[in-house]
Amino acid sequence: MSILRHTRLNIRKGIEHILPAQPCVLCGSMNHEGLWCGACDQALPYLDTPHCPVCALPSPAGEVCGQCLKQPPLFTSTVAVFSYTFPLDKLIQAMKYGEQLALAHAFAKKLAQGIDKDALPDYLIPMPLHPAKLRKRGFNQSLLLAATVARELDLKMQPDICKRVRDTPPQSALPWKERDKNVRNAFSCDMDLSGKHIALVDDVLTTGASLNALAAAAHHRGANKISAWVVARTLPH
Ligand SMILES: [Zn+2]
Ligand SMILES: [Zn+2]
Repeated sequence: MSILRHTRLNIRKGIEHILPAQPCVLCGSMNHEGLWCGACDQALPYLDTPHCPVCALPSPAGEVCGQCLKQPPLFTSTVAVFSYTFPLDKLIQAMKYGEQLALAHAFAKKLAQGIDKDALPDYLIPMPLHPAKLRKRGFNQSLLLAATVARELDLKMQPDICKRVRDTPPQSALPWKERDKNVRNAFSCDMDLSGKHIALVDDVLTTGASLNALAAAAHHRGANKISAWVVARTLPH
């Protein structure tokens, strides 16, 4: 065993002695590993089956799916850590509505781990909330996610250049078919993004309507490559 590895193990051991065990947010067992324990982590719905590189929906051999071939979105790739199923959906809801902000930090670290370090974007742009919603909720979970991912990967976050200019009903309250129309022209970006690669950060990708509308605003300002980075992907039943 190298000295370095030996030292690291000792440091880790040392930290475990200092940090008190915390109850796992999922099973309640005491653990030192973070918000959830190792056993619960292994049982989380990681998106590790072959999927479309553009929209992250399952595809037999990881090829671009039929929908993306027919009508490609304005973002050209999606990184999603989990599928949006139990118990991950409950954790995301706890982050958004239960103000469990430590969850945003934990999710962002997972997201950062899945990013290709050889194709990093110029800017990270969190999905903006309309100011009226921001006042009501008190925080924007996408901004928290993007801030941690930016720190983990040493990237520049631009939280203010794209805004939600229309306060629309929540997408989750609408049938999937109506979601495109609901968010069309809902965003505007005020910075020249000519030639830039940007990554849009959001918590959940369902129909992709919001991300596509935000991508349209960035594309309008000249962004030449747009990636979508999300914690979870909703899969069709
Ligand atoms: Zn657990
Ligand atoms: Zn696709």
